[in-house]
Amino acid sequence: MTNTVGHLIGGERVLTGGRTQPVYNPSTGEVCGAVELASVETVEQAIANAAAAYPAWRNTPPAKRAQVMFRFKMLLEENADEICELISTEHGKVLHDARGELQRGIENVEFACGIPQLLKGEHSKNAGPDIDSWSEFQPLGVVAGITPFNFPAMVPLWMWPAAVACGNTFVLKPSERDPSSVLKIAELALEAGLPKGVLNVVNGDKEAVDTLLHSSTVQAVSFVGSTPIAEYIYSEAAKNGKRCQALGGAKNHSVLMPDTDLENAVNAMMGAAYGSCGERCMALSVAVTVGDEIADKLVASLKEQIAGLKVGSGLDNSNEMGPLITADAQKKVKGYIDAGVEQGAELVVDGRDLVVPGHENGYFVGATLFDKVTPDMSIYTDEIFGPVLAVVRVDSLEEAIKLINDHEYGNGTCIFTRDGEAARYFTDNILVGMVGVNVPLPVPVSYHSFGGWKRSLFGDLSAYGPDAVRFYTRRKTITQRWPSSGVREGVVYSFPS
Ligand code: NAD
Repeated sequence: MTNTVGHLIGGERVLTGGRTQPVYNPSTGEVCGAVELASVETVEQAIANAAAAYPAWRNTPPAKRAQVMFRFKMLLEENADEICELISTEHGKVLHDARGELQRGIENVEFACGIPQLLKGEHSKNAGPDIDSWSEFQPLGVVAGITPFNFPAMVPLWMWPAAVACGNTFVLKPSERDPSSVLKIAELALEAGLPKGVLNVVNGDKEAVDTLLHSSTVQAVSFVGSTPIAEYIYSEAAKNGKRCQALGGAKNHSVLMPDTDLENAVNAMMGAAYGSCGERCMALSVAVTVGDEIADKLVASLKEQIAGLKVGSGLDNSNEMGPLITADAQKKVKGYIDAGVEQGAELVVDGRDLVVPGHENGYFVGATLFDKVTPDMSIYTDEIFGPVLAVVRVDSLEEAIKLINDHEYGNGTCIFTRDGEAARYFTDNILVGMVGVNVPLPVPVSYHSFGGWKRSLFGDLSAYGPDAVRFYTRRKTITQRWPSSGVREGVVYSFPS
């Protein structure tokens, strides 16, 4: 008997008996469950439940909505072990990494606890004679979120807590590849006091996504996933008159200046390139070295560290790196390594033949390191989304900046240096949305916002933080006068001068 994961609609777990697909444990390659793929009717039912819950939730005072978020945060912490086990089982990332993911998600719930302060609006007394004017930020109605496999708990928590704290109701379509943790989390939200129908979860594929995109009830769509799908979501949402933010893929470069603190940089690069098996949109997958001396030292040190990297099941907390998500992902990553060799890069460490004893059918690929990669190679141009690090050698900071600025993606980047002037020049001129100085994964804290540039984000507002409050509300500006005593005017046909 496999456990089939369904949907959460109107506060109830729902199984419709519709299409399903298997869910795998990537550490073993075994099927660990199944997920139901929502039909048009099931998604419409979720949208209808969200619409029905909206009027009462919109009118619930923000302070009361915040109290639900406080209770929800506590429940996430109390249930962290169970949630992380679900993440590791279906995604493959090591438990301690799942705990970090959940923590980042919890921080977004903490941000949502401040919603009464965040929704206060703007007020101008005496904007004109006896006239007051103010802007308030009203919820949109039913909004939707579509999320990727690589952060099954965190990315949904980027979206819906802020959206519902603002007074919206939500339909979430998480990744069908690792669906269990998100449903557990949604149930905790109900336990925390979120009224039924305020948050609905539908598992599914393109059919579910397209139903959300074409629904006239859905007012806005937040998407996180790969760039081709992000572009599709953004254009379809726009065609259908919806507000949309669509975060896409990445190819994040680090720059190592000749004066880099090498030990610090190598430790940082190991975690940022190989943590979560490279399946992070902020993973550092390119190291741009300025000068051959730092390049030679970097490659030698990484090679040494990779030899000691502990790869294995995500459920064993002593491991440092788990498997990839699917057999297809494993095949794709190995294909990129083949291509790198064929196209002339120097393969320093080859992860293609890694076998984890006792987990021979798991979707593992070992940490892989290429040197002397050039910008025309597919291992440089494409997002591999695996544990493959490419070293590109350049001669100057200008050359490094040009390389990064010419790349189609602009999600994250990091410069390693001791030179403040170089760091300042880099942060000022780089065409990337999130920039680190000796910080390999410059993921903004929850009270800033997260977003890349270029083809890493379609839309005007980033995810979570202050931008989320703007995204999930619309401004209404009210201008008011009570002409009882003082100023009374006759007919005026021109703008006042
Ligand atoms: P994906 O684009 O395959 O899937 C994302 C979501 O879109 C899933 O819910 C999926 O069901 C849905 N989807 C897939 N194909 C679709 C289609 N043809 N039509 C409609 N919907 C479709 O991405 P993924 O493989 O789950 O996640 C990995 C990608 O996400 C990587 O490219 C990574 O960089 C990116 N990502 C970006 C960020 C960011 O913040 N920029 C964060 C995490 C992940």
